[in-house]
Amino acid sequence: MSRIFNFSAGPSMLPVSVLEKAASEMLDYNNSGMSVMEMSHRSKVYDKIIKDTERKLREVMGIPDNYKVLFLQGGATLQFSMIPMNLMTKNRKADYIVSGSFSGKAYKEAQKYGEAHLAATSKADNFSHIPTQEELNLSPDADYLHICENNTIFGTTYNYLPETNGVPIVSDMSSCILSKPVDVEKYGVIYAGAQKNMGPAGLTVVIIREDLVGEPLDKTPVMMRFDEMVANDSMYNTPPTYAIYILGLVLDWVESMGGLTGMEAHNTKKAALLYDYLDQSKLFKTNVVKENRSLMNVTFMTGNEELDAKFVKESAERGFSNLKGHRSVGGMRASIYNAMPMEGVEALVAFMKEFEEKNA
Ligand code: PMP
Repeated sequence: MSRIFNFSAGPSMLPVSVLEKAASEMLDYNNSGMSVMEMSHRSKVYDKIIKDTERKLREVMGIPDNYKVLFLQGGATLQFSMIPMNLMTKNRKADYIVSGSFSGKAYKEAQKYGEAHLAATSKADNFSHIPTQEELNLSPDADYLHICENNTIFGTTYNYLPETNGVPIVSDMSSCILSKPVDVEKYGVIYAGAQKNMGPAGLTVVIIREDLVGEPLDKTPVMMRFDEMVANDSMYNTPPTYAIYILGLVLDWVESMGGLTGMEAHNTKKAALLYDYLDQSKLFKTNVVKENRSLMNVTFMTGNEELDAKFVKESAERGFSNLKGHRSVGGMRASIYNAMPMEGVEALVAFMKEFEEKNA
């Protein structure tokens, strides 16, 4: 068996111990005589799995009792529609900060359902920074403010949480959930596609403050109603059973790493190694301003497209996969989510130094 360092933006690496545990339980989960994949979602055995997963997520993230946890499908992208259909219902107005590609998509989708107002955007500087509080033009009567907390494509992240004067914050945490401690109480809704820090694709986690689960817009499909999903404990229909089980295993691993405080220390160390190297390199650079550098997605380039392509090709030959930047940005991107070990980043930096010596 040979595993490589996989820098994919998602789906991405999972901890080896999680994969091993899942493999050991593949044919017979806990003396049930079947795989979790084969199990009825209404069975007693599965009921314990989903409840345990929710309990562990509540413990790890410190989710207060007045928040509901939902295990849904449709990806984070479905939340771009589901959020306005369920929450843009009082004043039919919401603020959006567009700090990258996904928040742009969320903003565009919300325009179908009410008055989506652009509170700020960093498009003019090609999303190399996150709009600051001073740059925000917030509406006091907005039903919520939507932000994308970590921009997977551009490699930027918030270093503050907007002050909204009571307007609930809805945060897309797809690429940063479980990467560091979070004060859930400061949010109205947190949502994330699972396929980066939580498990395999197919599961979307939504954490929503109880009082925000209201009456959705007319004709909202039943599968897109938060009230129905809450009333049925995410089991109006068949939930993504196996992905939920893997999330449970990932949460055990996060706990074994010291919880979210431990994760943050681990992630800060990895990211610092890469950024410190980039800051002194004569060949590579990053365009992201220092105060908004993502711990999870590190974007960099040489400034020469041919050299970038050469780097991507040679790195792949050496066992570093998925370092090509997103097609909309070019250059390179190393996604170093929770499961990427320190050795992966050390090996990458060593390879970059070698490449720099040969090509500078
Ligand atoms: N938001 C962010 C921040 C993302 O990184 C992604 C996917 N890379 C999405 C939303 C879309 O997620 P999904 O593919 O689960 O719909």
